[in-house]
Amino acid sequence: MKENLEKILKQGLEKIEKTKTVEEVQEVRKDLMGKNSELTKVLKGMSSLSAEEKRETGMKATEIREEFTKKLEEKEGEIISNKSVLDEPLDLTLPGKSVGEGALHPITQMCYDLNDAFLSLGFELYSEDDISSEKFVFDNLNFAADHPARQMMDTYWIEGTENKNAEERLCLRPHLTGGSVRKLLKDGAPARFIYPGRVYRNEDVDSGHERAFFQYEALIVDKDISFSSGLVMIKTILEKVFGREIKVRMREGFFPFTEPGYEIDMECLVCGGKGCKVCKNNGWIEVMPGGVIHPNVLRAANLDPAEWTGFYINIGLERLVMMRYGVDDIRLFHSGDLRFLKQFK
Ligand SMILES: [Zn+2]
Repeated sequence: MKENLEKILKQGLEKIEKTKTVEEVQEVRKDLMGKNSELTKVLKGMSSLSAEEKRETGMKATEIREEFTKKLEEKEGEIISNKSVLDEPLDLTLPGKSVGEGALHPITQMCYDLNDAFLSLGFELYSEDDISSEKFVFDNLNFAADHPARQMMDTYWIEGTENKNAEERLCLRPHLTGGSVRKLLKDGAPARFIYPGRVYRNEDVDSGHERAFFQYEALIVDKDISFSSGLVMIKTILEKVFGREIKVRMREGFFPFTEPGYEIDMECLVCGGKGCKVCKNNGWIEVMPGGVIHPNVLRAANLDPAEWTGFYINIGLERLVMMRYGVDDIRLFHSGDLRFLKQFK
């Protein structure tokens, strides 16, 4: 009986040693310790033995069981820790799979380029919430009470604030200029800051108009400054961004918050001023309105117009990007079409 048990142990350990997979270990476990195993048969045949033999055989069988259990667990752990995570053999000579690489949107790129140019001239970067109020987007900026921009047709008003006072009557900002008074009220003058952001207009979408688009406004408030020095600054900024000499001209323009106001044009870079589809054949592109700050706006910002002066420029980011790349449809920028966007990587 004792020899028989030694044989079972020796053969069992050999079987365990030969296993190579977790499945094989499970098979061997069943084979060595299951209902039909040699070990179980020995235990079942103990009834014919003497009490002393029963005790010895029982003890030996338990030892063997424990030994098998321990070795099977060790073997299983060894197989699992050596197992490759790959289903197939690894071939280091195969070409890799390329990972998709993102890029900044062309409008964001332009915005960053302008930031660099303005910050190098000592401007501060300011930002504001997209939701503003009638007081800040119209009243403070000298818009007449019956100005069409105040109508439901032109501005997105926030439901539920219709009957509130001007400060609490909320809307999606139709322009950035309202933020200038908020900043001046907060930090006072002198000031020079830029405040890029998205603005909203309730209008029909076509190749030149969008319901939401980006503006990039810059403002200077100081003593004794003229708009002609502003024009030099605009030329400097554009030349920094485009990396070449840029011709700029001013025409008279009217905006409630300026006096006088100007439209600032730059020479079309696509055709060099000769006339093309992008500039609608006139050789110039309107890139920004601007002007000297209206005295009423300075008053709204608690500044004395006799003491302070200043000017705005409001750069149409999309227009500049259209100039940079010769894009002729503004809707492409917000289309989310990767075939278009991938060209700007
Ligand atoms: Zn042109």
